[in-house]
Amino acid sequence: MSTAELRENEPDTARDALEVRREAVLDMLARERHALTASLLGVTMLLVTVATMPPSILLSLFMLARIASFVFTRWAATRLEKLIEQRKPLGHAEHVLFAAMVTTGATLALMLWPAPLGATVASAVTLQVVVLVVVTLISVTLAAFPAPRDGMLGSFWLVATGIILAHPERYDQLFIFVATAFVLGVRVYAANAGRHIEAAARTTVENRKLTEELEEALAHAEFLNWRDPLTGLFNRRRLFEERSPESHAANRHLLTIDLDRFKAINDRFGHAAGDHVLIAASDAIRSATAQLADRGEQEAFRLGGEEFLVILEGVDADEANEVAERLRCAIAAVGPSLTAYARLQVTASIGIAEWRRGENLDDALLRSDIACYEAKDKGRNRVRRAA
Ligand code: GH3
Ligand code: MG
Ligand code: MG
Repeated sequence: MSTAELRENEPDTARDALEVRREAVLDMLARERHALTASLLGVTMLLVTVATMPPSILLSLFMLARIASFVFTRWAATRLEKLIEQRKPLGHAEHVLFAAMVTTGATLALMLWPAPLGATVASAVTLQVVVLVVVTLISVTLAAFPAPRDGMLGSFWLVATGIILAHPERYDQLFIFVATAFVLGVRVYAANAGRHIEAAARTTVENRKLTEELEEALAHAEFLNWRDPLTGLFNRRRLFEERSPESHAANRHLLTIDLDRFKAINDRFGHAAGDHVLIAASDAIRSATAQLADRGEQEAFRLGGEEFLVILEGVDADEANEVAERLRCAIAAVGPSLTAYARLQVTASIGIAEWRRGENLDDALLRSDIACYEAKDKGRNRVRRAA
């Protein structure tokens, strides 16, 4: 791959990486939202366990702090999710979630404060088990969100270690190693889960990109199937597709438009100039039909070379003459408009035929072609109506 190509792909790769990140974060935040019942259950279990213990102001305060932190985290996560979903700037939302997760870790660790004297071993152990399970679950839920996840684990470890150190009479100091091993174990496990989430997000983004590319390719194939690639007008194949004599309304006219002495333009100014003329003439045809869009579907075709066809719908004979005349003038204005080519003259001969009710397309087309030849015969740059 050349340097230029590499540079061209760079923003795409950066954009893809951002998209993967966005997908992973949204996935985690959605899982966090779906885990609401489990989170509420965790908080309730803590509450119930604390309630079974002898009253302790300190423990009640810690419990309140835990509930406040729970609400804070949910608010921060919901806010971040909305901003990411709407692709709005995140501002400080990520830092706020980080702060919320740090308080989550700290308030969960506070629940490891030695149980009040008189509490049963069962309730003390239940409290500790619930705390450890909740820490594990949160770490796994936020697995691919390193900063908040590690912030939570870090603050949990710090506060838990502090509590153990501060209570040598209640906690064996070896528990510091246990807490450290627990936090490291959860960290390694969560980081691994995070890699899986990232991989899944990458697959989602790649699939989405492939789908978009496929849709684009299909649209392009559809375009090429029905359209002339040079001018964007309908092609000959389209003309004979699904067109039955009965399928049309009254007042339908065909205009066969053939550019005059086009070969001479190619010979004198070159093939590229000829192509420019074809494009400009098609634009003139397109804008003439666009003016009649309120009458029905006005279709314009490039039948080949420098020959075009317009099917006018809901347009009577006099109006068809006017449209043809307008078109003739618009095409005559193409030469002077292409200022790159000095004294370029472009004109067209136009044949008009009514497409009668019940008449098949080939017959109507033949009459408008004949009218066009007559216009050529009479000196070109004119409109002729079929008998
Ligand atoms: P007349 O007034 O009798 O219609 O003469 P003419 O020169 O327009 O007609 P003729 O059929 O002799 O020549 C048509 C020319 O159109 C010949 C061909 O080289 C040219 N042509 C066909 N398709 C294209 C194209 O896509 N691009 C360009 N630049 N020229 C084309
Ligand atoms: Mg011609
Ligand atoms: Mg021709």
